[in-house]
Amino acid sequence: MPIKSSGVLLEQGARKLGWHPYPEPLAILTQPYKDMRGRVDGVIYFDEKKQERFQRAKAVVICCNGAETPRLLLMSKSNLFPQGLANSSGLVGKYFMIDLGSLCQGTFEQPLNEYKGVRVTRVVQDFYDSDPKRGFFGGGGIDTRFDFYPISFALNGLPPDAPRWGASFKNTLMRNFNRTMTVFSHTTCLPLESNSISLDPEVKDAWGLPAVRITYKSHADDFSTLKFFSERSLELLDAAGTIKKWAVPIGDATSAGHLMGTCRMGNSPGHSIVDKYHHAHDVPNLFIVDGSSFVTSGRNQPTCTIQALAYRAADHIARVAKSGSILSPV
Ligand SMILES: Cc1cc2nc3c(=O)[nH]c(=O)nc-3n(C[C@H](O)[C@H](O)[C@H](O)COP(=O)(O)OP(=O)(O)OC[C@H]3O[C@@H](n4cnc5c(N)ncnc54)[C@H](O)[C@@H]3O)c2cc1C
Repeated sequence: MPIKSSGVLLEQGARKLGWHPYPEPLAILTQPYKDMRGRVDGVIYFDEKKQERFQRAKAVVICCNGAETPRLLLMSKSNLFPQGLANSSGLVGKYFMIDLGSLCQGTFEQPLNEYKGVRVTRVVQDFYDSDPKRGFFGGGGIDTRFDFYPISFALNGLPPDAPRWGASFKNTLMRNFNRTMTVFSHTTCLPLESNSISLDPEVKDAWGLPAVRITYKSHADDFSTLKFFSERSLELLDAAGTIKKWAVPIGDATSAGHLMGTCRMGNSPGHSIVDKYHHAHDVPNLFIVDGSSFVTSGRNQPTCTIQALAYRAADHIARVAKSGSILSPV
């Protein structure tokens, strides 16, 4: 155990007196002994009567996505994990990323029938890779779609100068609903330690537990990327023959359906939460399998990658379970 001031003073005084100071015997481990690192022994959940229940488990896989997973870990504090489960690095909840994107709209002379069928049928990845000539790091992809229902279209789908009231509003709605196309991009969201999911110190959920607090601000490079993609999207609309086009103003975090990066993957326990198999560095029988393990935002929609990684993690979990290295909780 590290010596404290009082110990130093005792030592100095005692030695002057010819006495024999020695370390106080303490029943506290100073380092892991025979793998006694903490293991999870199950999960606590609320039943329908809001009573706490405990489910014992040999191993636990957390897959609650990029916001709720870190929240669970941060709430799961113990003597061994005073900063939250699997959080000896202090990085749980940090490097929160979303899937950024610019949004442009265009109207066309002809009906598009976009309300039918699947949402997106063609994409462009010409600007996916970074290109130093562009003067910024980010990149991404572009797709075209129609993301509106009648009410949301009435509120957000019309050109900025469209009438907002009365017969002309209704006529514009009627004409434009089937003639509008959105050009959407999915762009880089740089991983910043300052963007995070944490526990709100005041707001509670329906069970009296701390609510998620999101702290987020895009990097300046991300804004440059968004501006570039907005310009390319307007070019695309022109080239496709739009009769009127407009860009939705670029703002911070316009949508956050894709949550990534709050339990990042890596080889080094001091700099990441899980290894390449989603195995928590700190806890031998805990796995975290969702978008929280991403170390970059991927410049596109994340779910296929989440699925591929989940398959790989599942193979690994089955392998270590068969080999007996997932032991019953102590
Ligand atoms: C509107 C919208 C559109 C999207 N469109 C696309 C798209 O086009 N393409 C794409 O790639 N991705 C898209 N996504 C993202 C996609 O939905 C997610 O990436 C994907 O669902 C992540 O899968 P997951 O299993 O990790 O998490 P989720 O699907 O979010 O599953 C997490 C589960 O954990 C449960 N849970 C959370 N907290 C707890 C708790 N404390 N205890 C118990 N259970 C808990 C939740 O109820 C949920 O069932 C979209 C998301 C949204 C919101």
